[in-house]
Amino acid sequence: MSGVGGGCAMQTFRGIPVSPGVAIGRVVLVRDDRHAVSRRAVAAASIADECARLDRAIEASLDELADLRTRAEQELGKEAAAIFAFHQGMLRDPSLINPMREQIEQEKINAEYAVQEQFRVVAGRFAGMGDTAFSTKVDDVWDLDDRVLKHLTGSAPQQQTTVGPNSIIVANDLTPSQAAAFPRGKVLGFVTGRGGATSHTAILARALGIPAAVGAAALTEAAMGGEEVIVDGDLGIIVLRPDADTKAKYARIIERVAALRATVAQSRTLPAQTKDGTSVSLQGNIEFGKEAGAVIDQGGAGVGLFRTEFLWLTSDHDPTEDEQFAEYKSAVEKSKGDPVTIRTFDLGADKLTQAQAMAPERNPVLGCRSIRYSLQNIPMFRSQLRAIMRASVLGPVRIMFPLVTNVSELRQARMILSDVTEELVEEGVPIDRRVKVGIMVEAPSVAVMASSFAREVDFFSIGTNDLIQYTLAVDRTNEKVANLYAGTHPAVIKLIKEVARAARRRGVETSVCGEMAGDATYTMLLLGLGLRTLSVTPNRIPHLKAVVRAVDIGQCELLARRVGSLDSERQVAAFLRSEARKRFPELVDGRTGDEEPD
Ligand code: PEP
Ligand code: MG
Repeated sequence: MSGVGGGCAMQTFRGIPVSPGVAIGRVVLVRDDRHAVSRRAVAAASIADECARLDRAIEASLDELADLRTRAEQELGKEAAAIFAFHQGMLRDPSLINPMREQIEQEKINAEYAVQEQFRVVAGRFAGMGDTAFSTKVDDVWDLDDRVLKHLTGSAPQQQTTVGPNSIIVANDLTPSQAAAFPRGKVLGFVTGRGGATSHTAILARALGIPAAVGAAALTEAAMGGEEVIVDGDLGIIVLRPDADTKAKYARIIERVAALRATVAQSRTLPAQTKDGTSVSLQGNIEFGKEAGAVIDQGGAGVGLFRTEFLWLTSDHDPTEDEQFAEYKSAVEKSKGDPVTIRTFDLGADKLTQAQAMAPERNPVLGCRSIRYSLQNIPMFRSQLRAIMRASVLGPVRIMFPLVTNVSELRQARMILSDVTEELVEEGVPIDRRVKVGIMVEAPSVAVMASSFAREVDFFSIGTNDLIQYTLAVDRTNEKVANLYAGTHPAVIKLIKEVARAARRRGVETSVCGEMAGDATYTMLLLGLGLRTLSVTPNRIPHLKAVVRAVDIGQCELLARRVGSLDSERQVAAFLRSEARKRFPELVDGRTGDEEPD
């Protein structure tokens, strides 16, 4: 029975699925209530006191952020903690704080007003970039503004949110502080009106392991609070005031998902082999060295992608060579002889350092990101390559360059690597010269020219997240075009096929490490195209292993040929789904499709 909206009919909304699972609970509305600040004149004699008030508020905010960051790191993981590290960095940045002091002194006004004015300037700069990666930063700015104002005024912004058991949080957007502060165990899901897959809500929901959907603006308008609601984090569907049939259907899905998890857990320790005995290497994508242990625990065979940029994103300083070495060493040691593929930092686009965030680019996805950023910041790049090479004597390390788009970049990067190698040898530091060097295939330019690139690398890893974005000209973080972002587009599949073929001819190893690799509906297609290595979030490994064990390579090749004859992403998607349901119905995420609303 519904709560406040008890008399109204069931309504279904669509958002973007960002954290899997299904939850049934009650809507808790969180409104964005901002501090209202007025401009007040301050007597000349009190200006020094006003500046001191500002300093104290900033100090208190920084102390609070340090606590929040530690708590987030312990309870939610490093990616969530990175949000608060970013806040700390911003609040220590003189280019933000000095203008606040200057405004107080020059205009003889209250600190609250100066704080809000300066935050408004920075928020305006981010918002003006018209890019979703930066709109997330706008939320960071207002979150910080609230925090500093709270310390200046001694009051928290109004927030009548009572989070009881079985709460589903519904908000236009959540600030990171709001999301991190909700009591664990009581919140079963999140839905926001704004945001994309990389929004804070998405990151925090994944860290908490609860279902979430974003970009569901119509729901945030319709919900009144207290009503019953279902969040389907696999499909991005939200059902407000579900009727008895719908609730029963979703209750069955929840049961099936639980059963699926139990089945899949059993395949963890079995070999990743198809029915006809073909071996497949299932590897893990990690962000921090210690997660390599989780890859082994989940039955994986090494690290296929170490996203090292998170070492920068979670730190308030550039990690030193020694700090990096410790991370790489940890990954290699925990992998116990399995390969560890270390991708050099992939900064830029939606993964910004403090300095990049303060000087936004107009088109960051097409801008100075990934290997381009490394080649423009050579000392930083060298220090990373030194740290990786030092770790090379500890186990089979592989180096991978992100978003290469032409051979000159690859050659330059390799030259710097050779130079660093010689430097270490001269210094008498032990290294292993046999380190394999590869590239991410994320730009169509590389996929099309794969056979040329294959002459210059030891391996390829296909980054489908970016390859889809660049092939289809769809921003992967923009909810307005999320329906166009389709891995099933025949152009994407054709590029993957070409890369696999060129690599096979030249004897270059190839893997897929984008989200497509972890989606069971694509497994038969990828195997049919000749891929034998998939790198995925560690907790997906057992699931994929169960899928691999349920299929036959001959069937997969037949399926890939059929897919090659289809010319629309819808046809491909429907065909892949129906084949998956036919071959391994119990492994299609517990969903059979008949529960999906129209
Ligand atoms: C990719 O683009 O597919 C990839 C794995 O890299 P990231 O998601 O880190 O951009
Ligand atoms: Mg990428």
